[in-house]
Amino acid sequence: MTERPLLLLDVDGPLNPFGARLWPPRGYVTRRVHPTVWSARQKPGSRRLRRGLRIRLNPAHGQRLLALPYDLAWATTWMHDANEMIGPVIGLPADLPVIEFTDMFARDPDGLYWKTRRVLEWAAGRPFVWVDDMITDLDVRHVARHHDTPALLLRIDPRRGLGEPEFEELERWARSVSDQLSDPI
Ligand SMILES: [Mg+2]
Repeated sequence: MTERPLLLLDVDGPLNPFGARLWPPRGYVTRRVHPTVWSARQKPGSRRLRRGLRIRLNPAHGQRLLALPYDLAWATTWMHDANEMIGPVIGLPADLPVIEFTDMFARDPDGLYWKTRRVLEWAAGRPFVWVDDMITDLDVRHVARHHDTPALLLRIDPRRGLGEPEFEELERWARSVSDQLSDPI
């Protein structure tokens, strides 16, 4: 049996559509949380820090994601907090693998998104889809040149988040990859 592709998940943008203009988007719930990286960037003692970061999540997303033929992993500044603060709200297991980033927000010499090189390294040659709101064409080209198995970088509009078109695309892509990889040429 062929190994399933990875589905690498960003939180802000795809799961938390922070740019949505109509609040709350249908099907979403609101939470206030204190993710480690966000908290470290707030002014100590500020009201904002006390109140926490407001996020919107769709509790139906976990089931939809788990039904897809992928192995899920977190690729987010939330890192391990995603398992603790995001997974339980949307119905994902609390022990998904986490890509650890050490140089968060660092400027890349070639203008790549700061996550891209680490994502590639972590995927270690496995086919993957990466959903994130910050991916650019530079990242797409870099991955195409440096990854030997199929990879899809799916840029998500942070005003809409992960939606039906993306779920359909994820299903389609997994099917096409499994056909490709089982083709004995
Ligand atoms: Mg994001």
